[in-house]
Amino acid sequence: MELLTILNHCHRHRGFVYEHARFGADKTRIDVDVRPRQGSAAVCSGCHQPAPGYDHLPERAFEFIPLWGVLVFLQYRMRRVACRQCGVWSRRCRGAMGSTS
Ligand SMILES: [Zn+2]
Repeated sequence: MELLTILNHCHRHRGFVYEHARFGADKTRIDVDVRPRQGSAAVCSGCHQPAPGYDHLPERAFEFIPLWGVLVFLQYRMRRVACRQCGVWSRRCRGAMGSTS
């Protein structure tokens, strides 16, 4: 069974897709690429309403639950939205991501 299968079974998120998992250079961590699901609407983190996309922030690592003692990081480029009410904001992650490294 692959790690992506386990993640999709145990920690599935409607608006995101796990794309690729790999060990870090020193094999002490696992990095998992995450991207928004195609067609999923971006949500403004200010007013929590759907808003058109603006751009993407640089990729960040969000610490996830360790697996068999190995640190797991979700690699994600947050989308910013151009909200008519709030201006430009980072897309709301719906609590999917934890702390950053
Ligand atoms: Zn807004």
